[in-house]
Amino acid sequence: MSALRSVCVFCGARSGHDPAHLVTARATGAMIAAQGWRLVYGAGDVGLMGEVASAAIAAGATTLGVIPTHLMGREQGRRDLSTLVITQTMHERKKVMFMNADAIVLLPGGAGSLDEFFEVVTWAQIGLHNKPILMVDSAGYWKPLVALIDHVIAQGFADPSLRTLFEVVPDVAGLTRVLRGKLG
Ligand code: AMP
Repeated sequence: MSALRSVCVFCGARSGHDPAHLVTARATGAMIAAQGWRLVYGAGDVGLMGEVASAAIAAGATTLGVIPTHLMGREQGRRDLSTLVITQTMHERKKVMFMNADAIVLLPGGAGSLDEFFEVVTWAQIGLHNKPILMVDSAGYWKPLVALIDHVIAQGFADPSLRTLFEVVPDVAGLTRVLRGKLG
């Protein structure tokens, strides 16, 4: 692993209705900078993605953004990142983000964030990696998802160990504590 620890953040290309998530996104970006870590994310300047990046950049973080060429316009790919990687496909985007991450953080988001989260969880489930995956349950946003995962396990469609492949933290203070323990 590189000396510079990298935290990959998956989150919404929208901001959602609850302003608490904006606060969470900004605090996450600022925290990554304050810890001296690099932000890896989807390079957009929209929704919570843009908030995380703006806060991280304002606080002096190194940043790596990864975006497919066809989303440069729609997601307003940022040009003020330390490194911007433009990929051909969504699959390449996810792969480059993942390969450059030492830990993965899920903030509130939509279908894209869920896709990204389940991809890294399912890769962990079959033993392809053991990078920490942290879910930030900002204002309880992810409670229904955790309940669904518990239901999947209770109904016998996943091993109970599925629940151990990611850690739920209530807020950015909790996220910082756990990440510091994992990344040093
Ligand atoms: P959302 O959570 O739906 O707002 O999406 C968050 C981010 O995930 C956006 O940058 C989307 O472009 C991205 N995204 C959506 N679907 C996928 C996918 N299948 N693979 C990789 N990224 C995706």
